[in-house]
Amino acid sequence: MSSKLVEDQVVSEEVLDYDDEESFFQDVDVLQNHGINVADIKKLKSSEAKVDKIKEACAKLSSIGFLTALQVSDKRKNVFKVSTGSIELDKLMGGGVESMSITEAFGEFRSGKTQISHTLCITAQIPGSNGYTGGKVIFIDTENTFRPDRLKSIADRFNLDQTAVLDNVLYARAYTSEHQYEMLDYVAAKFHEEAGIFKLLVIDSVMALFRVDYSGRGELADRQQKLAQMMSRLQKISEEYNVAVFITNQMTADPGASLSFQADPKKPIGGNILAHASTTRISLRKGRGELRIAKIYDSPDLPENEATFAITNGGIADAKD
Ligand code: ATP
Ligand code: MG
Repeated sequence: MSSKLVEDQVVSEEVLDYDDEESFFQDVDVLQNHGINVADIKKLKSSEAKVDKIKEACAKLSSIGFLTALQVSDKRKNVFKVSTGSIELDKLMGGGVESMSITEAFGEFRSGKTQISHTLCITAQIPGSNGYTGGKVIFIDTENTFRPDRLKSIADRFNLDQTAVLDNVLYARAYTSEHQYEMLDYVAAKFHEEAGIFKLLVIDSVMALFRVDYSGRGELADRQQKLAQMMSRLQKISEEYNVAVFITNQMTADPGASLSFQADPKKPIGGNILAHASTTRISLRKGRGELRIAKIYDSPDLPENEATFAITNGGIADAKD
């Protein structure tokens, strides 16, 4: 923050173009920490030239977005995990749905994607391990399957006040893929405005509208390009505001499966773009009755295990054995 007071006091000649002296030396420090040689800049005769060079170097650095490993590690200290409501499923996912990343759950119809989405709306509000305080949620619904009544039943299970809990979930229905993408502007603005209050963003389901809007054969390239834009926006939002992003996805028959004798001839849609953008991918399949089986499909740091959970009236829970 550049206080007017500091600006009014004439700081040393060296920093004439800076808001305050402190930020000048901070920038010099940052550059040095990134191994950028400021000695050459210091040798410059005119202080104006020095300031220009320092500013230029800083701009270059931040446009690339480099951080030191130490800075990354500091940032990641704030990462939290939202419980799914099932201890077994949490364990599979390394503690739950992680902030600063995108978690994708895909599976056939009735495999539990929407039920997990609903449960997370409640569990995200409950303080958890590692000082997690709990917070508000934004839910983007593309299939018109959001049911506040489900949230009420899940709130009851956790002994939470129904009204309070519903009041903490901001809901929006997206009607086109363009609309869905534009909504992210609002999401970012909201996260910015109420910094630290929102903890979770749900999109159920992420591909449904893209599938409708780009259904022609020749439209796949366009679709993937728009999808890439949206996913990169989502990634940025999750990191910038330290929120967990949970998206659901549909499956399609894999035309290559019969040739390669795959056991499971279905795969998530969205191709490589979605595959790369989602940090953690879990596949869901139906078991007996209320039981569902989740499997880690792709994760940077989780083994490919499976977990069984149940869909109950109180949301996602452990299977009773
Ligand atoms: P789709 O691809 O159609 O969107 P989905 O993966 O989102 O499917 P869900 O809607 O999450 O599927 O799961 C539906 C399952 O949840 C059904 O088997 C249904 O019986 C179960 N379910 C829904 N509501 C309840 C409830 N109140 N109590 C117990 N089970 C429920
Ligand atoms: Mg659903």
